[in-house]
Amino acid sequence: MALIVQKYGGSSVADAEAIKRVAQRIVAQKKAGYDVVVVVSAMGDSTDELLDLAEQVTPLPPGRELDMLLTSGERISMALVAMAIGSLGYEARSFTGSQAGVITTAAHGNAKIIDVTPGRIQEAVDEGAIAIVAGFQGVSEDSKDITTLGRGGSDTTAVALAAALNADACEIYSDVDGVFTADPRIVPSARRIPKVSYEEMLEMAASGSKILHLRCVEYARRYGIPLHVRSSFSQKPGTWVVSEVEESEGMEQPIISGVAHDRSEAKITVVGVPDQVGVAAKIFSSLAESEINVDMIVQNVSAASTARTDISFTLPAADGQNALTALKKVQDDIGFESLRYDDQIGKVSLIGAGMRSYPGVTSRLFDAIAAAGINIEMISTSEIRISVVVEQDAIDGAVAAAHTAFELDSDQVEAVVYGGTGR
Ligand code: ASP
Ligand code: MG
Repeated sequence: MALIVQKYGGSSVADAEAIKRVAQRIVAQKKAGYDVVVVVSAMGDSTDELLDLAEQVTPLPPGRELDMLLTSGERISMALVAMAIGSLGYEARSFTGSQAGVITTAAHGNAKIIDVTPGRIQEAVDEGAIAIVAGFQGVSEDSKDITTLGRGGSDTTAVALAAALNADACEIYSDVDGVFTADPRIVPSARRIPKVSYEEMLEMAASGSKILHLRCVEYARRYGIPLHVRSSFSQKPGTWVVSEVEESEGMEQPIISGVAHDRSEAKITVVGVPDQVGVAAKIFSSLAESEINVDMIVQNVSAASTARTDISFTLPAADGQNALTALKKVQDDIGFESLRYDDQIGKVSLIGAGMRSYPGVTSRLFDAIAAAGINIEMISTSEIRISVVVEQDAIDGAVAAAHTAFELDSDQVEAVVYGGTGR
């Protein structure tokens, strides 16, 4: 029998009514002859509320206890969804991440899945029950403590289970009808993307698109699990994330799949760096030692008169203070002049596998941004992505300009946001 893994996000299980609605959807899938395994997120904004609560108790909650607290959110929804299914006359059994065999590293707040041993889930399914699994959590192989997979991690739970159970597909339900060519809150004329490749989706997730957790897409690509990203509030088809998007179906692949943006980064400039062997290595090792992930890096040629240069890079704004502290510690050793910090920036990225074989994409993007009167502060590219850093207030304008320049606007409003508080 075909097996489907379904994942419901927080807005899909936000209250009792929503939970009953989701239960009906799950039962409908079962009635259609599928084995069903469901992964749930915490209700509504409850993860944020739990975080706020912890912060009121102590400014720096220990990771172990914070994970214990946050995983309770998903336990609430899994039990309620199981009860709602039961009341419709179908058997459902809920399982914590640990019971479902999600084995992780010990890194609290950002644990990685090492292995999934879903014996109990398989057993429940074999006995005809619907298994409901708490997303976003696991148990550490070493410490045996409960861990979480990072914000939005339920997507990754779903795909990891789908891989371990050899599922036929994994459906990711949220409150929008799939992946759009831009965030519909910024670009109301954004279009739904019917199909997108794993590699494009990876670039989108890494560029700030929040619709799918980055590691979920990596996992899906590695195990070849087709993902269907769709809304639990409608019956419309969503976006399929698959290994390759062929040019069949009478449609030519668009050059550009979408425009993503990210408001969560900051920029640090290390001013007056001596132009000597090993200096960049020292700067970035000091950041690596503090476990800071650097994104874009720009280094200029040094000025002939001073033999010094500036190095700028972007990083998550949340790591900004740590990075400044780490760099100040090595300032005397490296001999740079000063540090500049700017968190009023944002990143706008244009993504499309078609740009590989299509010249002129870069100039068209830069022209559009210039015509909107927006200054580009940094640029970085991959084979299928061009990203620019602009000042924070210019993000919306840059996204809209890029979206229009690549003819992505739809003439009717396609994007409906059904629920959620956008928190
Ligand atoms: N509840 C967690 C969060 O809000 C995990 C998830 O929703 O995937 O980040
Ligand atoms: Mg959530």
